[in-house]
Amino acid sequence: MGVATEMQQDHKGSSEGSAAAEKKRWTLNDFDIGKPLGRGKFGHVYLAREKRSNHIVALKVLFKSQLKQSQVEHQLRREVEIQSHLRHPNILRLYGYFYDQKRVYLILEYAAKGELYKELQKCKYFSERRAATYIASLARALIYCHGKHVIHRDIKPENLLVGAQGELKIADFGWSVHTFNRRRTMCGTLDYLPPEMVESVEHDANVDIWSLGVLCYEFLYGMPPFEAKEHSDTYKRIVQVDLKFPAKPIVSSAAKDLISQMLVRDSSQRLPLHKLLEHPWIVQNAEPSGVYRS
Ligand code: AMP
Repeated sequence: MGVATEMQQDHKGSSEGSAAAEKKRWTLNDFDIGKPLGRGKFGHVYLAREKRSNHIVALKVLFKSQLKQSQVEHQLRREVEIQSHLRHPNILRLYGYFYDQKRVYLILEYAAKGELYKELQKCKYFSERRAATYIASLARALIYCHGKHVIHRDIKPENLLVGAQGELKIADFGWSVHTFNRRRTMCGTLDYLPPEMVESVEHDANVDIWSLGVLCYEFLYGMPPFEAKEHSDTYKRIVQVDLKFPAKPIVSSAAKDLISQMLVRDSSQRLPLHKLLEHPWIVQNAEPSGVYRS
């Protein structure tokens, strides 16, 4: 039995009396805890091994007091609910969760190569082959999400992890939403937000196409396209779609064409994700395996 089926639990509790409700409840005793992998806003992440299956996971430990103080319990619940139902090679698996009096524990897929953000900082910018491979894999993951009526709404380098083979994993569903309707909530980080979200008008799944365009630009140039010293200036540049391509680093006109087709003010006119996968820049540069090996 694989970890996916093994690592299931049901927190509705046995009070429901059904066989499904009798599924295993995890506790800290089920895991050997290893080295710290990183520190987030609400707690720590540790390498861990599930004792029975020997499966390696990342255990995210969140402090209830901090979640409460920042009023993000609802957001966390939504994140867990959404992420635990998604199964895609480019989406980090959430196998389950448990809690004690003080903490909430998330059992996550371990991304052995860590944060993409650090890799981008180290390289300053990526080659077109690498950027195209990443953008194509994220487009596939977002097509999958949108097919399940899940909008991510917060695609940015800080939310992407890298697996052992070099494959990208969307890791943070904190701002994602399961929806059939158009939304008005303002969320995410300003640099990646599309005009309709900074202006708080209705938005839909096409917000993720915009953010993917911003990400593509950042992969190739090492900085997001609408960056400015002041928030208010970033806001203005987004709303006006003030898109400029610097002379250096040299980037192909095919890549600029793709970015220009994604960063379009009218969300209905943005290049659909399945069309993105057929764009010449993607076809010519993305690794068919979906995995970039440096
Ligand atoms: P977070 O609280 O999600 O921001 O996580 C804090 C840090 O822990 C991240 O920046 C990563 O370096 C590391 N981390 C989180 N989740 C994982 C994971 N699933 N696999 C490997 N490292 C992780």
